[in-house]
Amino acid sequence: MTDRSSAAFVVFDHVQKSYDGETIVVADLNLAIEKGEFVTMLGPSGSGKTTCLMMLAGFESATKGDIFLDGKSINNIPPHKRGIGMVFQNYALFPHMSVAENLAFPLEVRGMNKAERKEKVDRALEMVRMGGFGGRRPAQLSGGQQQRVAVARSLVFDAELVLMDEPLGALDKNLREEMQYEIKHLHESLEMTVVYVTHDQGEALTMSDRIAVFDDGRIQQLDSPTKLYEEPATAFVAQFIGENNRLLGKIESRNGDNVIVDVGGTRIDAVAVNCGETGDRTQLSIRPERIAIGDSRDNVVPAVVRELIYHGDHIRCRLEVLGSDEFVVKVPNNVGARVPNVDEATEVSWDTADCRALDSGTVEQGQDPQ
Ligand code: ADP
Ligand code: MG
Repeated sequence: MTDRSSAAFVVFDHVQKSYDGETIVVADLNLAIEKGEFVTMLGPSGSGKTTCLMMLAGFESATKGDIFLDGKSINNIPPHKRGIGMVFQNYALFPHMSVAENLAFPLEVRGMNKAERKEKVDRALEMVRMGGFGGRRPAQLSGGQQQRVAVARSLVFDAELVLMDEPLGALDKNLREEMQYEIKHLHESLEMTVVYVTHDQGEALTMSDRIAVFDDGRIQQLDSPTKLYEEPATAFVAQFIGENNRLLGKIESRNGDNVIVDVGGTRIDAVAVNCGETGDRTQLSIRPERIAIGDSRDNVVPAVVRELIYHGDHIRCRLEVLGSDEFVVKVPNNVGARVPNVDEATEVSWDTADCRALDSGTVEQGQDPQ
C-alpha cells in the first residue's frame, strides 16, 4: 500500500469480486477516500457499484484484496460492528413500526438506553425536517418523507461513514433535486464521509467532491466533477458525463500534445488525450456548448441544419457534420444571437483546445450508455 492510501479513511486495495468464481464483476479496484469527502460511484447499471458498497458495508466479501476503514482492515469485521450508516433505494423502513421506532432500532441494537435513544431520534428527525412525524407509520408518509426518514435513520447513531445506494431513485424530479441539496447540506454540516452510488450523472455532478466513473467493474476515471466534465480521460467518460459530440477518424500525424485527425477526408486539429499514434483510430469529443455556428473558431467545417428545438435559454440545433447527423450545438438565446434555419447550409467551428482525441475502442458509434 502507498502512504497516501494508508492515510485515507476508506481504502479499497486491489479489491476483486466474483459471485460465481468465473465472472469478475469488480476488477482490481483501488480507491482511497479521505475523511469528510463525498465520493460518488457513478456508472451504468451492472457496472459493479452496489457490489462495491456491499463489500464496504460487510454484506459481501471481497474475492481478493483488502478494504481498510480508518487504517484497519475490515475484511473480518461483521456489518453491525463497522459503525457504518446506510440508505438504500427501496428505503426498507419497517412497516409495522412508527417512524421513531424505525430510527430507534439501530440504537437499541447497539444497547443504548431509552432516554438517550429518544434524544438521538428527535435530533435525527429534526435534521431532515421531520420533527413532528415520529408517531406515524411509514405508510402514512409520502415517498419523499419516507426517504427523509431513511436518511435520518442512517444518521441517527452519528456514523462517521454513510453509504447511500441510489437513495433518490424512486422520487420524482423536483423532490429528487430538493433531496440532493438536502443530503449535500447534511454532509457539510455533519462533516461525515459519504460514499454515494448513482447511475444519474447530473446527481453525481451536483453532489460530489469526487466521482469514480465505473464501467464493467473498473474505475475509468476518478476526479472532481469539473475535471470529469471538462477533461474526460476516455471516450466512455466523455459520453457518460454530460452531452458530447463525437467524430470518428484516423490519426494522420502527431505533434507533441496535439494530433491531426482525418475524419472522412477532412483534417481536424485536436488535443491528444489518450489516443494512439499515427494510423490509429480515435474518437474526437467536443461539448455542444463549445461549438459556434459560423467560422469564428480554429476548426471550421461545413454543416447542414437538420432540427431546431427551443429550450428557452438556448436553442438546441442538430446538424449534419462530417457524415454524422447527430451533431448538436447549443445556441444561447442571447440578445442578437442568430439562429439558423432548418435545412440551411452553414458552418460550425470550435477551438482546438475544446476538441479531445480519445481512445475509440470503448464506445461504438450509436451506442449510448444509459
Ligand atoms: P450496479 O450496482 O452498478 O448496477 P451490481 O454491483 O449490482 O451493479 O452488479 C454487478 C454485476 O454483478 C452484475 O452483472 C450483476 O448481475 C452481478 N450481481 C450482483 N449481485 C449479485 C449476486 N448477489 N449474485 C450474483 N451476481 C450478482
Ligand atoms: Mg446498484
